[in-house]
Amino acid sequence: MTILTGNGVSPGIAVGTIHVYSGFQIIPEKNICPPGEERSQLDRYETVKTKALDELEQIFLAMEIKDPEKAKIFRAHQDIVNDVAINEEIPDKIQNEHWTGDWAIYKIYETFLRMVKKAKDPLIAERAADFEDVRGRLLRLWHGRNNEGLSVLEKPVIIAAKELLPSDTASMDPSRVLAILTETGGLTSHSAIIAKSYGIPAVLGIQELLDNVKQNQTVVVDADKGKIYLDPEKTIVEDYTKKADAWHKEREATESFRYIDACTKDNIKIDIAVNIANADEKELEAAGYADSVGLFRTEFLYMGRNDLPGEEEQFSVYKKVLERFGKKPVILRTLDIGGDKTLQSMELPKEDNPFLGNRALRLCFTYPDIFTTQIRACLRASEYGNLWIMLPMVGSIDDIRKAKDFIFSVRDNLKKEGKSCGNFKLGIMIEIPSIALMANIAAKEVDFASIGSNDLCQYLCAADRMNGMVEPYYQSYHPAMFRLLKETIEAFSNAGKPISICGELGGDPLAVPVLIGFGIRKLSMGAASVPNVKRIISGFTVTRAEEIARKVLEFETAEKIKTYLTDKRL
Ligand code: PEP
Ligand code: MG
Repeated sequence: MTILTGNGVSPGIAVGTIHVYSGFQIIPEKNICPPGEERSQLDRYETVKTKALDELEQIFLAMEIKDPEKAKIFRAHQDIVNDVAINEEIPDKIQNEHWTGDWAIYKIYETFLRMVKKAKDPLIAERAADFEDVRGRLLRLWHGRNNEGLSVLEKPVIIAAKELLPSDTASMDPSRVLAILTETGGLTSHSAIIAKSYGIPAVLGIQELLDNVKQNQTVVVDADKGKIYLDPEKTIVEDYTKKADAWHKEREATESFRYIDACTKDNIKIDIAVNIANADEKELEAAGYADSVGLFRTEFLYMGRNDLPGEEEQFSVYKKVLERFGKKPVILRTLDIGGDKTLQSMELPKEDNPFLGNRALRLCFTYPDIFTTQIRACLRASEYGNLWIMLPMVGSIDDIRKAKDFIFSVRDNLKKEGKSCGNFKLGIMIEIPSIALMANIAAKEVDFASIGSNDLCQYLCAADRMNGMVEPYYQSYHPAMFRLLKETIEAFSNAGKPISICGELGGDPLAVPVLIGFGIRKLSMGAASVPNVKRIISGFTVTRAEEIARKVLEFETAEKIKTYLTDKRL
């Protein structure tokens, strides 16, 4: 038996046989074409491009109905095939350097995908997979091979690959994939995104995976622990087969909670909201099962592009979300750039401590034009639904008043221009301890608040949330966190103002009863957490949650709190 480890990016257990998937990989030789053959190489390149565009069109049309978002990937691939710069470089190399077409395709795409990989934004860097994917398609067609992909899985298998590319997974039947194992790929890689969206257990970044696995080999995957067992002993297979069955049953039972209201055992309704970022179709489906949008991270509209989104573009996105959620509130967070999030379209000054620097609301005050554009788009869109505007990185009452003056003057200007704008609520994120401690005063200034526990924890514990070295100091269950949460929640509740939580703690099964015990009645989380949180809520009464919350406040360390909550798991 061999045990290998990697990152368990999508939880779950699987027992099955390996399907080694290598796609079509070819690294052409550096070849110079015989004199006079340049023309035929150029023609062949044009034919290959046409065939690639046809194949991509076929995939696009087939996908468009069942998954329009995924279909868009193939439109993007067509754009890459037609990319102007690439299509200057490749013919140039064939014509002037006498490279053979396949070598020119290989090398020129290599330059481009290296450039993309170097992007600071990990979401863009991961898009190198798309360039690799298109290159693979062109080279396969150059060599006259058919596309086999993952569409021909005859039985449920565990896929082992170097990395899965978008076109590998497009035609994949997820019901035949028990787990995904790859050598490369991080949390934001295509393999991770696909695995999580289908709820398939996945362990990525397993070193030397392909050197160790064989076709049809038996494997046990424990994605919760990031471990795989190759040729496992009989007892391990038996043990994990039981665990896998239990996991499947539990997952089905949990999923059945997605579309029902979250009520405690004593029938207190808890609002379940979702966190969204791209406002794509998959995210908007939440209008069918969530009570509201608890956090719309609008900065994602600004990221991964070379220009800033204009007022009309933002207006139409906000309008789309508001219309889709109808009467349900949509908490739209204003631009939260800085810290870990950068913009390609703006060269911001380098800061030694970006998380303590000119980020989010502070940055909006520094660039009033950018802030004005966003607020104008929001206010105009407010007519189409139930808009709640939320300010990130608020540290003082001065920040709130300054932002209010700004927003109301934008509204006055819109009115002067004769543009209509509807009603909206104005609130703040509580993610800096200085405002959490002023919550009773802040509650008089705003309509609502939402606790950003991710940042609140980093500022309270003085531990950078992105720095793995200080991870042990970033303690979400720190007793100080719970004390501060209690005070903040009570301050808003006493003022009769809605308070929710939209950081990771809001979807954390261990923290949920404590938060409800403190008085929270609205939790916001990623779509994947919704069914489990709804299920957990149905298992306790508010009185029980209050007892647990009181008990939590008695412990001196994060570890003791975690142990207590794990033992009491409801
Ligand atoms: C938070 O800080 O908890 C939060 C929800 O905002 P973000 O994670 O986007 O910083
Ligand atoms: Mg935050």
